[in-house]
Amino acid sequence: MQRRDFIQKLIATGAAAFGVSRTAILHAQQGGAATPRPLPARGEFIIRDAYVMTMDRAAGDIAGGSVHVRNGVIAAVGKDLKAPGAAVIDGRRCIVLPGLVDTHWHMWTTYLRSMAGDKPDDGYFPVTTRYGKAMEPIDMYRSTKLAAAEAINTGLTTVGNNCHNVRSHDHAVYDIRAVSETGVRCRWSYGPYRGMPPDKHIDMADVEAMHRDWDKYSNGGLISLGFAWGGIPTGPAAAKSPESLDIARKEFETARRLGIPMATHWASRENTPAGDVEALATGNFLGKDVLLIHMLATSPAEMKLVAAAGSPISVSPGSELRIGYGLTKACDFMDAGILVCVSLDTVPLTGSANFFGVLKLMRNAENAKAFNEFKLTARRALEMGTIDGARALGLDSQIGSLVPGKRADVIMVRTDGLDMGVFTDPAHMLVEAAEEADVDTVVVDGRILKRGGRLTSLEPEKVIADAAASLAEVGKRL
Ligand SMILES: [Zn+2]
Repeated sequence: MQRRDFIQKLIATGAAAFGVSRTAILHAQQGGAATPRPLPARGEFIIRDAYVMTMDRAAGDIAGGSVHVRNGVIAAVGKDLKAPGAAVIDGRRCIVLPGLVDTHWHMWTTYLRSMAGDKPDDGYFPVTTRYGKAMEPIDMYRSTKLAAAEAINTGLTTVGNNCHNVRSHDHAVYDIRAVSETGVRCRWSYGPYRGMPPDKHIDMADVEAMHRDWDKYSNGGLISLGFAWGGIPTGPAAAKSPESLDIARKEFETARRLGIPMATHWASRENTPAGDVEALATGNFLGKDVLLIHMLATSPAEMKLVAAAGSPISVSPGSELRIGYGLTKACDFMDAGILVCVSLDTVPLTGSANFFGVLKLMRNAENAKAFNEFKLTARRALEMGTIDGARALGLDSQIGSLVPGKRADVIMVRTDGLDMGVFTDPAHMLVEAAEEADVDTVVVDGRILKRGGRLTSLEPEKVIADAAASLAEVGKRL
């Protein structure tokens, strides 16, 4: 029997009766998630004669420097390093720096790229909700795989995958699998799902079970579990449903008891009344383990509360500007003593995952707001996109700067293309001029995932074709 006929017959005879899940059928119909190519081995290599930006303030930059990587670890950084037996990567005319760190990205929305339209019915929220409701686990896999491939291509070695379309346990598992197969480092946060009615809530038993079994999902420690907490009801919503506060509190307490770091979208739009942040502070819902996203409606007094509690803030100027949440407040937050990191959020709004471009938007918006060419330096923006992102995720002892002993998340950016050519100020070049095509080499945990401008373990054409097929299928189910 032809495979297609078999599948049709399976459906016709009521596959559920045979213990075959709808997920498995859809998976088979779409050609399945073919056995992935094994990730490249962690070898030993040395990048020589590069302009090395360690992003460590003590070590600084090293012109004509080298980075020696062995078994996933940065063995040495400096000039005139000896590394007999290590494969040599020519770093001339390149800038080498730590991999970029995203802290909040709904990766499953990626094949809805640029689909947030120009009328309210086609806006970001209705479109992602419409498609999100129709997406099966295999569709989450296809879209998130596209995201992970794009992450590596653009030099993001860590992603803060905030999965807010967990319609079933399988949706979570397939989303994680897509990340896992690509080898990128990830904080994967278990969230709600699009169109979740107010009387429903996140399946905390599933969160607990996944936490217990996390070794199965962690890809050897590269992926850590987070929780995309929805915050607490405020204003009229709180008055209407007092029990919803209890649910939110229980979710928060469960995550904290299990030691699962949280990320929550909060006070997002600047033109809404302040006060919600104060509600989080007075309810003891802040702390180092609670990453706050957007926060544009935060008053100066509330910024002090956030700083005192130690919550970091993730700003996503690419999406915030596009959707009209307001101008970034990254510098106001930092001036108040808050740790600020950067995020992509969602490519239906940002268009692409070019993180250098997001850093550029942030820096330029800050300078515009301040009427000051010097308000936010390019180097400070790069720190926010590397070491500060690692700090916000609690990963700075492992990644975020090129320091011996840390895990080897390293990127190499060419400076001899027409857009980058003539080496001048490296921090400015990266923030102002760098594009994905300039990213020559990407190393995550010592594995070379991009080399010579090409992905080493993924075929972009196949990832894109699979994503397109899945989007077409989902479109038929709307
Ligand atoms: Zn978001």
